[in-house]
Amino acid sequence: MSEVICDQNFVASVIDGKQDVRAWFDWKPLDGRMAFIDSPNIIVPASMFMALHNSMTKIVGEAAAGGVISYRAYMDLGIENVAYLQKKGFDNPETLVPLAVSLFSQMGWFKIEKIDCNPQTKETTVRLSQCIESETFGPAKKAVCNCTTGLLTGIVAGAFGIKARGKETACLSKGDAYCEFVITESAS
Ligand SMILES: [Zn+2]
Repeated sequence: MSEVICDQNFVASVIDGKQDVRAWFDWKPLDGRMAFIDSPNIIVPASMFMALHNSMTKIVGEAAAGGVISYRAYMDLGIENVAYLQKKGFDNPETLVPLAVSLFSQMGWFKIEKIDCNPQTKETTVRLSQCIESETFGPAKKAVCNCTTGLLTGIVAGAFGIKARGKETACLSKGDAYCEFVITESAS
């Protein structure tokens, strides 16, 4: 399996959507095992975003649950995902960012409208025309996609090897036409 993902054709096909990730599932329903690429995976319902958020809000309050814990936890997930791809031989941030983002897109997280990545300043803008986190939360007065913000920030941080900070500048839940995330290098 791992040879396939090292193939540059795989990168191109994932990015332009000509090939889908179903080919990398190894599903053994009777054994209770499902592997994706070469690691064990589970299917988690999107309602988990709301359930976890509600549980954490009860424990630590809303600001800490969304803006701190979800954001930070998913940032680590993004960093780990990039580290995995780096182990598979990808080292160019301009390939890593779209590759990692497109893998999550194919796993059902969101639909990518555009990814702008400036290799000099490392500032990266990701615009999504659909986002499962916003869909799960529904209409809201403010941006709600803290997990997605963390995930995308972690991908950029890991790909460039920098400390990064991400902000959701537009959100479908607020009534904007898309969810948009701006990730910049942070001083600390
Ligand atoms: Zn959003």
